[in-house]
Formats: sequence, structure tokens, C-alpha cells
Amino acid sequence: MFETLSDRLTSVFSSLRGKGRLSEEDINATAREIRLALLEADVALPVVREFIARIKERARGEEVSKALNPAQQVIRIVNEELVEILGGETRQVRFAKNPPTVIMLAGLQGAGKTTLAGKLAKWLAADRNTPLLVAADLQRPNAVTQLQVVGERAGTPVFAPEPGNGVGDPVEVARASVEHARRNNHNVVIIDTAGRLGVDTEMMRQAADIRDAVSPDEILFVVDAMIGQDAVNTAQAFLDGVGYDAVALTKLDGDARGGAALSIRHITGRPIMFASTGEKLEDFDLFHPDRMASRILD
Ligand code: GDP
Repeated sequence: MFETLSDRLTSVFSSLRGKGRLSEEDINATAREIRLALLEADVALPVVREFIARIKERARGEEVSKALNPAQQVIRIVNEELVEILGGETRQVRFAKNPPTVIMLAGLQGAGKTTLAGKLAKWLAADRNTPLLVAADLQRPNAVTQLQVVGERAGTPVFAPEPGNGVGDPVEVARASVEHARRNNHNVVIIDTAGRLGVDTEMMRQAADIRDAVSPDEILFVVDAMIGQDAVNTAQAFLDGVGYDAVALTKLDGDARGGAALSIRHITGRPIMFASTGEKLEDFDLFHPDRMASRILD
């Protein structure tokens, strides 16, 4: 995860080792190197610009600490700014006052929504919640079965239209699932919606209809971190088309660069809430900006 950026930053910092006070030239050269490292990591340009401006400003401003040498000071500043750009605080799930809490997942096909639905269910159940998974992706013939398989692995019941009843209406399925959850003491409903391979108005409209029918407590935009800048573009399209409260980043395990993780919060204004880091249901947790920054600077 983020190996490229990690390596680049390590070499930037090592060139500062042994220096006394940093000159303006040192600061500019360092800022230039960090800029290149971020661009190479596929971080969105406006994010890079702001990041670099802040690093320069803080490195120049006399934040002199007697306990730290200049290299350590730069590392500390970069660390703090990374935490900030990644969202600062860990975003917790907001539970509804009156259960069930409705969590809706939206995103492109292949983003990892169904897998994430199972991971989220298992993660919630470990904390004494009683989730219900809802198959509202009725477009792909396999989607319902796939969610059922995931539900079985997670040990979570799946609410789906009866087989043989035609395709079914995802909005009705979503609405009925909330009723079903209320009657059967499921305190969280996780709705898996249909995705397409690319941004598509029909898909957006369907997700928006489901949203309007069930008023989710949390809409999560699920996105594959490995697609880099495309993740940022898709995030913007879903923000305009459906809207969401937070982002779930998937496939971070395969993301050597980190551009999506470092850009999405700043570009969309929405926090990253979850990180998915593998195909197993256990490869999942809340996204912790401070831990992620430490990993990058490790
Ligand atoms: P959906 O179309 O959005 O529902 O996506 P799926 O949940 O079917 O996931 C698409 C593919 O990505 C599957 O092969 C998953 O096993 C894989 N996948 C999902 N999440 C992760 C992850 O965090 N890491 C890795 N390496 N693979 C993942």
C-alpha cells in the first residue's frame, strides 16, 4: 500500500539529514521533491498545490522546536498535513435514534460493493449489531446470488426479492427491507445497489430513487482505490448524481500509489469512513487518517 509515495518521501527526508537550519533554498527544494512525489502518486493537482503551499508556509514559519532537528521537523509537518488531507479524525458510523439504521452503498460495478456489504455486516455484527443485507442490485443476474454467498460467509441474513417473481423493483425491495428489519429486530440495514461499468444516468436515477424511498442514515460511496484519478472523477459524478455522506475505499491492498486516498476527501468534502484491504471479509476497518499517514511515512 502506497509504496511509491513512501519510498519517495523517505528519500526526500534522508537528503535533509545532518542539515542545520533549513535555508529558503532547502525548503523550496524539499517542497519540489514532495510535489513530484505526490504527482507521481497520482494525487489530484489542487490537492498537491494546497499541500505544498501549507508545507512551505509551515516550514518557513518559525515552528522551531529545540527537540527536533530540521529533518524531523519537516517529517512532523508532512505527517500532520497528511493526516489533515486524509480527513483528520476517524469518521464513525452514525446510528439512527430509532432503528433500523439504514446504510446505502453506491458505486460502479466492480468497485467492491457486494464484498464491502458483507465485510460491513460482519464488522457490525462483531459489535453486537444485528444487520440485514439487502439485494437491491437487480440488474445483474448474478448480483443477488453473489450477495447471498457473501451473506452466508458473513453469517448475515439477506433480504432479496422472491425468485421467479420477475426482475422486481429495487426501490420496493429497499422499502420492504426496512419494514422487514423493523419487524425482525435488525438494527442495521445495508442496501447493496446496482452499479454499472461507467457513470450512467439511469444507474444514478435508480440510486437516487432508493435514497428517496428509504432516507438512508448513511450513504456510502464505494470506490476502487486502484483506479487513481478516475476514483476522484467518479466520486464527483456520484456526489452530483446521488450525494453521499462518506466514502468507502476498496482494494487499498493493491494500491501502490495512494492518489485516490489522498485526493478524495479534499475534492469531495466527504470523509473516508472505511478501508477495504483484501478479498477476505476480515480485511476491513474504519479508515484512520493518523494510522494511514504513519504508514506512508514509515
Ligand atoms: P461490486 O460489483 O461493486 O459489487 O464488486 P464486488 O464486491 O463483486 O468486487 C469486485 C471484485 O473485487 C471481486 O473479485 C472482489 O473479490 C474484489 N475485491 C473487493 N474488495 C477488495 C479489496 O479490498 N481488495 C482486493 N484485493 N480485492 C477486492
